[in-house]
Amino acid sequence: MCKALLIVDVQNDFTEGGALAVSGGDSVAERLSAYLQSAAEEYSLIIGSRDWHDPDSDNGGHFAGPEYSISQPDFVDSWPVHCVAGSVGADYDPLLDTSFLHEHIFKGFGKPAYSMFEGATETGLTTVELLREAGITTVDVAGIATDYCVLASALDALQAGFKVRILADLIAGVAEESSAAALKTLAESGAEIIYL
Ligand SMILES: [Zn+2]
Repeated sequence: MCKALLIVDVQNDFTEGGALAVSGGDSVAERLSAYLQSAAEEYSLIIGSRDWHDPDSDNGGHFAGPEYSISQPDFVDSWPVHCVAGSVGADYDPLLDTSFLHEHIFKGFGKPAYSMFEGATETGLTTVELLREAGITTVDVAGIATDYCVLASALDALQAGFKVRILADLIAGVAEESSAAALKTLAESGAEIIYL
């Protein structure tokens, strides 16, 4: 089996109660854990990513707030402070059973990084390197947020030549309209949208 599961940014700051909470985030974490219980063995590689920003800068205009050059987030390019490296907000949501994850990608050190493919493991391996090393041909993508980091990660997976399936029951988006647009873009770009 040459299939990988990419779990994008299921972190406290992106689920209910977080700094940049996405409605339905907790539910995604819960349903992902149930899915892993039943389906983990279908995957030869399961990778989780975490947004992981510097505490002492605006991370390239990604953070907005009174102390930064952008005071108010536009929720397109600038955001409330979130997922600061090492903070509780940057941890995986505890509803996600991380015992199934084989690899962990960190992204966003000092800059915006929506795609898991922009990050690396603690030892410096990129997502593409992990996938190629494992002989992966197909990736399933789940996580948060549909309209940003799931979209960017899945587009990069397609760009890198993988067959991509979006697990549409296991994603949550910032906004309904942009999430629908993201799924449309992904389908038009060659991703398969799967409902379990
Ligand atoms: Zn971020």
